[in-house]
Amino acid sequence: MKKTLLVVLSVILLFDSSVIVISAQGQSPTEGATIGEEDSIIEMINQIDESLLYEYLSGLLNFSPRYTGSINCNLAAEYLYNEFQKMGLQTEFHEWRYGGFHSKNVIATLPGTDIWSTAEYILCGHYDTVRTAPGADDDGSGTAAVLAIASVLKDYRFNHTIRFIAFSGEEVGTYGSFSYARDASFRGDNIIAVLNMDMIGYANTEEGGRVLRFFPPKRSTWIADEATLIAEKYNDVLDMKVVTLPGYRGADNQAFVDYGYDGVWIAHQDGYSWGHSPEDTINHINWSYIVKATKLMLAMTVEFAQKPIDVQVALQRPYEGYTYFFKRPVFESSFGKKYFGGLRGSTFIVGGRAQATAVVYSKEPIQYVVFCIDGYFMFWDSEPPYEWSIQGWMTPIIGRHILDVYVFTTTGKVASDQMDITIFEIATTYK
Ligand SMILES: [Zn+2]
Repeated sequence: MKKTLLVVLSVILLFDSSVIVISAQGQSPTEGATIGEEDSIIEMINQIDESLLYEYLSGLLNFSPRYTGSINCNLAAEYLYNEFQKMGLQTEFHEWRYGGFHSKNVIATLPGTDIWSTAEYILCGHYDTVRTAPGADDDGSGTAAVLAIASVLKDYRFNHTIRFIAFSGEEVGTYGSFSYARDASFRGDNIIAVLNMDMIGYANTEEGGRVLRFFPPKRSTWIADEATLIAEKYNDVLDMKVVTLPGYRGADNQAFVDYGYDGVWIAHQDGYSWGHSPEDTINHINWSYIVKATKLMLAMTVEFAQKPIDVQVALQRPYEGYTYFFKRPVFESSFGKKYFGGLRGSTFIVGGRAQATAVVYSKEPIQYVVFCIDGYFMFWDSEPPYEWSIQGWMTPIIGRHILDVYVFTTTGKVASDQMDITIFEIATTYK
């Protein structure tokens, strides 16, 4: 269950179907209210304003600080849950225990309408704080943006599922997102991209007021590339651009990346000197900036959630984050406290010959699925289930490698997925 480079060969940012609008009170999609694509996104963008963001940010800041596990943090979780529920979204707590902490992530879901799609996009921020900060910018800003965007998008329907998530446990080691990503990976959730807004409420220069920074790890640069094009598309309305920087391991998107998904950290450009201090208050928020950043994130969420996906492939086995002895997953080998050590989501195969299994989602006939190690052909399979018993040609595969899988459709579309594996082969006979 890893990420999945949905590759539709070209970056098509235009919808092939128009957005369906439902009435504010309505429960179910009604085709009657269908309107033109770009107009409808502008209509959605225009519903984001300062008073909406102020309402959510000040609502959250009533519970300050929100150190993970504290009463205030739990009260803030209740507040977020109630706000999502008032919007009529499917709302749930994801309770987690890790590293001596016990807390809850809050999740609201807007299900996709494409019955062929299992794809989902996550728009998230973290609502917890360090012990002494009210956390207006870090990360009340991202959390308020999640709420504001959800409150607009709830009245529309899109091809793919959108999950709005407020994580806790970020400031103590990104434990909330780690717990969620681990569970999602084990369930086989088909998460295409995680858009993690963490500190999007500040600018004090003219240049900084026009920039939203994206920090993708290498495998997720495609998200920043698409985001750049979306920002250009709405530049006349928003006057904002995307600047791409290298990835950073200490943000909530990283846990998803460790579990084979794709995600980026998104933040403002100008330096914010009150982070993690009692001075991280609502007075320091730059309102015109947070409004523009939230509008741009709304446009991106909609463009991603609406874009058709023709073919996808996902590695479902080996299970990410497990240690295998021969074919069997024996124990979980993720050491989540060490997010800088790179051990989260690590997969070890001791003895070799674990089974690799790929799941394909496609609207077209499949020609074949190809398994590779480090980009080199190893095995192909033209019939489901698409499987390969991991083994070398003539020589064993030993050490840390990338297991790649590609799917080719009969019309020439290609998609791929990959995961890191580390193999210790003890004794194998090669013919
Ligand atoms: Zn933060």
